[in-house]
Amino acid sequence: MQNSILFLGTSHGDPTLTRFCSSALYRFNDTAILVDAGEPVTALLVRSGFKSSMLDALLLTHMHTDHIGGLPALVTNITKYPTENHTTDFYFPDKQIIEPCKNFLDAVLAFERPDIIHLHAMEADKKIEVGNVTVTPLANDHMKRKNAPSFGFLFETGNIRIIHTGDLSADFHDFPQIRETVDICVCEATHIHTGLDKFINDIKELPIKKLVFNHIGPLWTDGKEYLLEDAVKKLPFPVIVAHDGSEVLF
Ligand SMILES: [Zn+2]
Ligand SMILES: [Zn+2]
Repeated sequence: MQNSILFLGTSHGDPTLTRFCSSALYRFNDTAILVDAGEPVTALLVRSGFKSSMLDALLLTHMHTDHIGGLPALVTNITKYPTENHTTDFYFPDKQIIEPCKNFLDAVLAFERPDIIHLHAMEADKKIEVGNVTVTPLANDHMKRKNAPSFGFLFETGNIRIIHTGDLSADFHDFPQIRETVDICVCEATHIHTGLDKFINDIKELPIKKLVFNHIGPLWTDGKEYLLEDAVKKLPFPVIVAHDGSEVLF
């Protein structure tokens, strides 16, 4: 199995004419990890040909609707069409949110198979083993004003290292610390309010082999992607602006 990232939904907080809300399917050999479950994630998984009950884990970066809005339909789909001898671990950003979420899923009759889906909370820097992948949750300040946790992730398997930033703060001060080489950095592109020039300057010397933008903000979506692509040409590594359905192989 080729390692890949399939960008299912790549919009910012709202769906747009050409982009759905956030979700990305990471495949590392036989391990499948979904990052976020924005709407309409289940439909997009079906269209991509991936059976949702084959997911090893769902990682939720934070509890904004654009990242979790597709959760009930996803849970329904996994439990309605299970895969024999396969379970899926859901990781929530906050221990306190698990019980209310479970109650909501119960209320919409989605969570009837707790033997198939296991709910967990993640903690900053506490490594999670998913199949052959080690996931390190990287805390950021995106939800600080709400006094709630939010995360990006470092994925490591063999000698592959990938960072997924998750949503960041408006000044990007919480962009992950990158000291060791990362093969791919998947970076959100909505909250760069201090400007692209500063961002480019901040990251141009980091050991990044490839940068992929997702979570594309209103300035650069629906035909305006070229503005972002042009601006980042100065960077010394390749940059991709993901669209819904973009697949990056590694
Ligand atoms: Zn978002
Ligand atoms: Zn958010």
